[in-house]
Amino acid sequence: MRKLIDKLSNAHTLTAEEYRSLLLCEDAVTNSYLQEKAQQTTITRFGRNVFIRGLIEISNRCRNNCLYCGIRKSNTMVSRYALSRETILACCREGYALGFRTFVLQGGEDLSQTDDWVEETVRSIRREFPDCAITLSLGEKTKEAYQRFFDVGANRYLLRHETFNETHYRVLHPSEMSRNHRLQCLEWLKEIGYQTGTGIMVGSPGQTIDHLVEDLLFIERFRPEMIGIGPFIPHADTPFANEPAGSIDMTLKLLSIFRLMHPSALIPSTTALASLSPDGREQGILAGANVVMPNLSPSSVREKYSLYNNKAAFGSEAAEGLKELEKQLERIGYTISYLRGDYNYV
Ligand code: SAM
Repeated sequence: MRKLIDKLSNAHTLTAEEYRSLLLCEDAVTNSYLQEKAQQTTITRFGRNVFIRGLIEISNRCRNNCLYCGIRKSNTMVSRYALSRETILACCREGYALGFRTFVLQGGEDLSQTDDWVEETVRSIRREFPDCAITLSLGEKTKEAYQRFFDVGANRYLLRHETFNETHYRVLHPSEMSRNHRLQCLEWLKEIGYQTGTGIMVGSPGQTIDHLVEDLLFIERFRPEMIGIGPFIPHADTPFANEPAGSIDMTLKLLSIFRLMHPSALIPSTTALASLSPDGREQGILAGANVVMPNLSPSSVREKYSLYNNKAAFGSEAAEGLKELEKQLERIGYTISYLRGDYNYV
């Protein structure tokens, strides 16, 4: 098994069967060797620096009905909100003063935030913050819309494919959504020139080891600049309310594998990891992640952007908790980098 890890570390690729056996391996010594290799690779590439991104959750309205998601259209228990452009700009100003140089606008597919509105919002942020990166995570749009957002200043786009396997995709999504369309969107984003992020939830209902192998092979081929993976966590008001949460260990293992597969990738230690375990974020960093995304949304709406139960949004998960985050990272020997942290940038 060590040979496989060395091979992945040197050649950045494995066969499906090799990935499968690595995922199935439960030997603690082997798994800590994998983690050490991933950690070393991250440090060699980025030093002991962790990039920060200010996350602004711009709307919890969504036209989609993904079965796992707390803000799905059919969830009538959610109190819905959408931020105005002025509020988003105020969040950016607050973030800029704290030292953030990347703003991530994430939201449900809110039909009231039209393409024109998003374009104008990106334009306004770009005008006021010429030195910052703008990341969008607003779901599936037309190619023309992605192009318009890019042309006025958006640099990066996060769109998890969620699962590469078509049958599994149908377990997680209603019939009007399609895996092929999701993948098409990812292709468009790359073609246009975005630094593109994709990824999965680990332990989503119905997920098998073979599905994970398909995800690994897809991400190996697609070469995203950013890779977002976090455990699935159930939300009480969704059809998956009684499903178990994904495994932290499997999430960390995948994180390490992705680091060895794509050494330069920007890989966040996700909020979902931090929500499942008090030291989840630090564990993610030690397994090879190099990005954290503290919450810059107005605190009045944070609880409403409830994708899953007990989602962390305060303390060191919050932008105003940067000092606390700094201390947590210091304890494991890392520091916050206040650089923009573009792909390939050290
Ligand atoms: N609408 C955009 C999209 O579809 O990409 C962005 C918002 S969506 C809520 C962001 C991500 O949240 C999804 O890609 C999904 O992986 C994650 N997510 C949603 N529900 C989750 C859950 N119950 N547990 C863990 N992650 C979840």
